[in-house]
Amino acid sequence: MSADGVRAHVLILGGTTEARRLAGALAATGTEAGSGIRAGAGRGTASGAVPDVAPGSGTAPHAPLRVTTSLAGRVSAPVLPPGETRIGGFGGAAGLAAWIAAHRVTHLVDATHPFAERMSFNAAEAAALSGVPLVALRRPGWSPVPGDDWHFADSLSGAAAVVADLGSRVFLTTGRMGLHTFAHLADTWFLVRSVDPPQAPVPPRLEVLLARGPFGLDDERELLARHRIDVLVTKDSGGSATAPKLTAAREAGIPVVVVRRPPVPQGVRETSSVEAVRHWLLHG
Ligand code: NAP
Repeated sequence: MSADGVRAHVLILGGTTEARRLAGALAATGTEAGSGIRAGAGRGTASGAVPDVAPGSGTAPHAPLRVTTSLAGRVSAPVLPPGETRIGGFGGAAGLAAWIAAHRVTHLVDATHPFAERMSFNAAEAAALSGVPLVALRRPGWSPVPGDDWHFADSLSGAAAVVADLGSRVFLTTGRMGLHTFAHLADTWFLVRSVDPPQAPVPPRLEVLLARGPFGLDDERELLARHRIDVLVTKDSGGSATAPKLTAAREAGIPVVVVRRPPVPQGVRETSSVEAVRHWLLHG
């Protein structure tokens, strides 16, 4: 317990690698002697970017922290992060604010996928309603490099509108949830890779590859060649500087339809660094 008797409780809105990494880093923090976070840390700082900081730079008198990761429940057998987990929607921003109050959450981290637009706006609204500090942990987007043949689309519908002009054998890596957007493309063959099987409506000419990433460059090269892929569709999910599928497409001279990211709520502190979030929790 901290000096004011309130145990800090971090709620991570997850479903991403970054969220799992953060939960792991905080679990390690919580077990270090004399470490943890203060319930008040993170409040009262000006909004804007969270500074990137050197790992382990200083500690404060801390209480052990409680970390809960929230998952939407889209995947049947999710990879669970360290710490506590809860699964399922909250019932909008008001439901999230109620959960925050009921569970004495002191800090909120939006570590959802860059395309989980609704949840990010709910997080911003719930943080404002409940007065808990919020930071968004968001991976940087991708940028084309020489040799790339990228075609940008503003949405999955936009991608569906151009994909048939670019090729006839499509590797669709945008996830199984938006597959209905491509369902009318009867003359185009699709390869879809997902953790769980997709549900109808789906494109009529479809092969599904059930697999969970990460995927290596050799795997991606082999996949593109084996299925004679002539166009790749991806969201600008980002992460590391590039992704093996993008490198493999560049090497093979295959065009890529890149779906641009949706908007994010204004005025939310944002970083791409797990360590910066940990520092923010420790030191405010
Ligand atoms: P979304 O459209 O932004 O959210 C739809 C609803 O799902 C939200 O309003 C919320 O329901 C619930 N929800 C979303 N994330 C949640 C979380 N972490 N914990 C509890 N409830 C959550 O989100 P989505 O695009 O369907 O993504 C769902 C999850 O999959 C997210 O956690 C995201 O990080 C992960 N994910 C998404 C993508 C993608 O491309 N969209 C890719 C990889 C992983 P209530 O309003 O009822 O609270």
